[in-house]
Amino acid sequence: MSMIEDNKAKIAIIGGGAAGSSAALYFGQLGLNVTLFEKDASLVSGPPWCHLHAGGNLYREISDAQCVTLLKQSIDFLRFYPFVVDYRPTVIVLPTTDSSSPEALLPRLKLLTAEYKAHIAKDPENEVLGKPENYYQIYTKDEIKRLREKELVKTPKTSDEWMIPVAKNIDFDKVQFPLVMVQEYGLNLFRLAAGAEMTLEALDSVTLNTNTIVYNVQQNVETEGWNISYVKEDVSHTDSFDYLINAAGFKTGKIDDLLGAPCKSMVEFKAAYVSHWDGCEGTQFPEIVFHGERGTPRGMGQFTPYPGGYFQLHGMTKEITLYEDGLVANSLVSCQPRLGQDFIDKIEKSWTEKETEKRTKAAIEHLSQYIPSFHTATVGSKPLFGAQQIPGDDPTLRVAEVSFPRERYARCEIVKVSSVLDMVDAITKQFVDLGYVEANILGKRDFPHAIQLDEDALRQRAESIAAERHYPRDLANRNISKQV
Ligand SMILES: Cc1cc2nc3c(=O)[nH]c(=O)nc-3n(C[C@H](O)[C@H](O)[C@H](O)COP(=O)(O)OP(=O)(O)OC[C@H]3O[C@@H](n4cnc5c(N)ncnc54)[C@H](O)[C@@H]3O)c2cc1C
Repeated sequence: MSMIEDNKAKIAIIGGGAAGSSAALYFGQLGLNVTLFEKDASLVSGPPWCHLHAGGNLYREISDAQCVTLLKQSIDFLRFYPFVVDYRPTVIVLPTTDSSSPEALLPRLKLLTAEYKAHIAKDPENEVLGKPENYYQIYTKDEIKRLREKELVKTPKTSDEWMIPVAKNIDFDKVQFPLVMVQEYGLNLFRLAAGAEMTLEALDSVTLNTNTIVYNVQQNVETEGWNISYVKEDVSHTDSFDYLINAAGFKTGKIDDLLGAPCKSMVEFKAAYVSHWDGCEGTQFPEIVFHGERGTPRGMGQFTPYPGGYFQLHGMTKEITLYEDGLVANSLVSCQPRLGQDFIDKIEKSWTEKETEKRTKAAIEHLSQYIPSFHTATVGSKPLFGAQQIPGDDPTLRVAEVSFPRERYARCEIVKVSSVLDMVDAITKQFVDLGYVEANILGKRDFPHAIQLDEDALRQRAESIAAERHYPRDLANRNISKQV
C-alpha cells in the first residue's frame, strides 16, 4: 500500500483521547504529517472506559443493529490495540427483581454468534474473541451449584474455571438462572495512553503537543484549510493546516462554535468507583454485570476486576454513576452543551473526599446485594469519571463515529471507544477524495505499533500515568494479557 508521493498535507487533531490518539496513530503510521494537540500532560485523560462492548451485551435497550455494529467494531479494535485488552470474560446476571428473563437474551446472543462466525469466515484474523462456539455459554442452577464445590483456579482458562468464583460468591436467592457467560473483555485506558504516546513520540511524521490548549480556529481563505491558534508553555502560536480533526470529546461543540458548524449533541457526566477488596484474596473474577433498569434504584451494576484486589464499580442509579442534571443538550445559540459548574469543577479540579466516600460506599452496597461477601470492600481511590459526548438527541445511542459538517473538517463523536476504527475509515475516505492517500489504504488494519511495543516499557509508562493521576498503579495492569 503506497502513500501518494510527496504528500505534504498537514493534519491537525484537537484532543488526545481514544478518538484523537487513534487517528494520530493511524494517520501518523501511514506517514501523513500529523499534529496532535492535547491540553493535558498525557494522552487519554478524558472520561474512563473499561469495557470493550463486543456485541453490546450490557445494553438490552439498544437495537440488534447497534449490537452487530459494536461486535464488528470491537473486532477491529482488538486487532488494532491487542495490548489494551484484558482477556477475561463477562458474566451476565438477571436479578430476581428484573422483569425480564435470561432466556430473553438468547436470540441476540445467537445472532451475534452467527455474525462473529461470518467475520471469521471473511478473515481468519478476526478470531479475536475466542472460538465462535464459545462466544456465549449458559449455566443452569445445578451447574452453578456443582461449580460452587470446586477449588478456585489461580489463572482460569476454561469457562467453568472462570465461573467458580461467581458460583462461590453470588447470592442464589437474588438472581435468576441460567447465568450467561459471554466473551466481552475489559480494556485498559492507561495502557492505550502509554502505547499511543510511545508510538507517536517515535514517529517522524507526528508532532505530539501535550500541555497545549487550542483556543481558536479560523478558516484560511487562501489555502481553504485552517489556522489553529494554541498556547504551549505559556507562548501563543498560530499554524496553518489543510485538514482539521476535532476530537475534543465533550468540548467538541466549542470548536464547532468557532467554525460555525451545524450541530446537535448532548453531553453526559458519569462516574465509576474504585474499590479495594482485601477479602477476595487473589481470586480471579470475571466481570459480572447485573442487569437493571437505568436511572432506577435497581439500575445495572457492573463489577469490573483489576489486579491487586481492585474492582471498578458502576451502578446505573442517580446515587452512584448517574447524576441529576448530568445529561445536557446543546442550545440554538451554541453547539456546546453546558454542564453545571459542579460537574466542571469535578472534571477540572477535584472531588471532595466526602463525596468519593459516599458514592463509592453506595456502589459497594449496590453490588453487595448480589455478592454479599463484597460488603467488606473499601474505597480504593478517587473515582474514574468524566463527561462524554453523544451526537444527536437519543441518549441511548451507543454507536457513533464521525460527521463532516464542513469541508476539510471531521467532527469525531464516538460514544464507545470500540468505534474508533470505523471513525478512522470514514476520515480516510475523505483523505482519498482529497488526494492525501491512495484508495488502497482504505480498511488497512495491520500497523507496527500493535506488535512492536516493548512490554516492560509499556507497563512502566502506563503505571506512571496512573500514579501521576493519583490512581493505584494496579489500575494500569491487566489480569489476563493473552487470549487462551
Ligand atoms: C463513567 C464512564 C464510563 C465509561 N465506560 C466506557 C466503557 O467501558 N467503554 C467505552 O467504550 N466507553 C466508555 N465510556 C465512554 C468513553 O469514555 C468515551 O466515549 C470516550 O472516552 C470518548 O473519547 P474521545 O477521545 O472522543 O474524548 P475524550 O477522551 O474526552 O478526549 C478529548 C480530549 O480532548 C482534549 N481537549 C478538549 N479541548 C481541547 C482543546 N481546546 N485543546 C487541546 N485539547 C483539548 C481533552 O483534554 C481530552 O483529552 C464511559 C464514559 C464514562 C463517563
